[in-house]
Amino acid sequence: MIRAASTIAIAMAWAWFTPVADTIRTEAQPADYFQFPLPSWEPHCLGFGSEWRYCNGTVLRRCSATGAVWLHTGVDIKTGIQPVMAAANGVIIGYIVDPTFRGGVLIRHQTPDGVVITQYWHVWPRSGYAVGTVVTRGEVFADIADMGSRTHFHFAVFSGDYDSHTWNGALPPARCDGFPAFPYQFVDPTAFVQAHLEPAPAKVVRHGGHGLQDVDP
Ligand SMILES: [Zn+2]
Repeated sequence: MIRAASTIAIAMAWAWFTPVADTIRTEAQPADYFQFPLPSWEPHCLGFGSEWRYCNGTVLRRCSATGAVWLHTGVDIKTGIQPVMAAANGVIIGYIVDPTFRGGVLIRHQTPDGVVITQYWHVWPRSGYAVGTVVTRGEVFADIADMGSRTHFHFAVFSGDYDSHTWNGALPPARCDGFPAFPYQFVDPTAFVQAHLEPAPAKVVRHGGHGLQDVDP
């Protein structure tokens, strides 16, 4: 139902005036909580800060002068081809296609601690999702791309507003070739999401005589 308004929402996403209809979402809701974009979260070959290599050890990129292997800015997750969810409320601010890595998507989130951008690689956006589309936490906006035996999901968290390096899946261990040193503004994505999960609903506390005892285990 909401999807029907998506093309209008895209056109208006950066407008500053009041939306003309309640059903058109033109502004992202604040991102108070995050979630993992896939229903399971099993590490693939590379973690946050791993040397940037294929699973067979082949190096993906080195600094030209020093030969230093670049470091992975995100976490790789085992997956088949399945839906990918937005990690939090936000707006899609970038979509590019790399011939090797397939689609990359950036979602910008306004959090109580400032702007955070989540990065999704090896995905294809679903119909109706493009730059400017507003998404809510848990909303399916893409599917994992088929990369044969290399099929996996890459997820990164960039703390701060967009710059050209927000796209990077890896950065050098020391500044080289025009790229800043790892981790730059990237943070451990699994730790970040775990620290920003929505708290479980509070247990009902039975108040006794003095009303101060803890919840029963
Ligand atoms: Zn990766």
